[in-house]
Amino acid sequence: MKVAVYPGSFDPVTYGHLDIIKRASQMFDKVIVAVMCNSAKTPLFTLDERVKMIIESVSELNNVYVESFSGLLIDYCKKENIHIVIRGLRAITDFEYELQIAQTNKELSHNEVDTVFLTTSLQYSYLSSSVVKEVASYNGDITPCVPDFVADTLYKKYGFRK
Ligand code: ADP
Repeated sequence: MKVAVYPGSFDPVTYGHLDIIKRASQMFDKVIVAVMCNSAKTPLFTLDERVKMIIESVSELNNVYVESFSGLLIDYCKKENIHIVIRGLRAITDFEYELQIAQTNKELSHNEVDTVFLTTSLQYSYLSSSVVKEVASYNGDITPCVPDFVADTLYKKYGFRK
């Protein structure tokens, strides 16, 4: 069985992430979306909130599971016996960082963990969680960027009701 993990902060999940998840679910037997509990970043949403928003967004994809993890991704992969990591690439600006992480993971895992890159669908290439948060914080329209319940959660977080 081909299992892949799609790790990220997902703070919050966007249509860009969901597009990658959907396409990956058609390529692999099982996809685990692994939400990072990363001390280096201060997320807007708690781990629990981020996990719940993804669970709700992927409910129609039968082979997609949502988990969380802390620590090194390669340790999580080893524990779960996963050898494939999925990451999304939006633009050349993502590439340098992603290449560095992918090579580090390959090296640290003694070639046990490889990274598969999926390029963004063009209509989502501009989308990032940070931009969505910024627009929502000014009560701007984020409905083209995230599912409705994610938009509601964001507006509530910033004290707006829509
Ligand atoms: P990070 O894991 O770096 O904190 P995110 O949680 O925002 O970042 O993203 C997780 C993964 O999804 C990364 O590989 C990122 O490049 C990818 N990604 C984010 N937004 C998009 C998008 N609009 N289209 C395709 N891939 C995306």
